[in-house]
Amino acid sequence: MRNCKEVTALVIAREDRDLPVIERAALRVHMVMCKACPTFERQVLTMRNAMRQWRNYTDDE
Ligand SMILES: [Zn+2]
Repeated sequence: MRNCKEVTALVIAREDRDLPVIERAALRVHMVMCKACPTFERQVLTMRNAMRQWRNYTDDE
């Protein structure tokens, strides 16, 4: 089982590279059981979307 520290590291790593299937599965299992990590994941996804919009915006200039 992954602990929260490992899971948050995986969530961040996932932004840069594809995780192995086993890591993705461990991530998903942890997200179901944990209260804190899904909140963190949502924040990362929100940040990612904000970054993408910002990038699109600057590309249009
Ligand atoms: Zn957790």
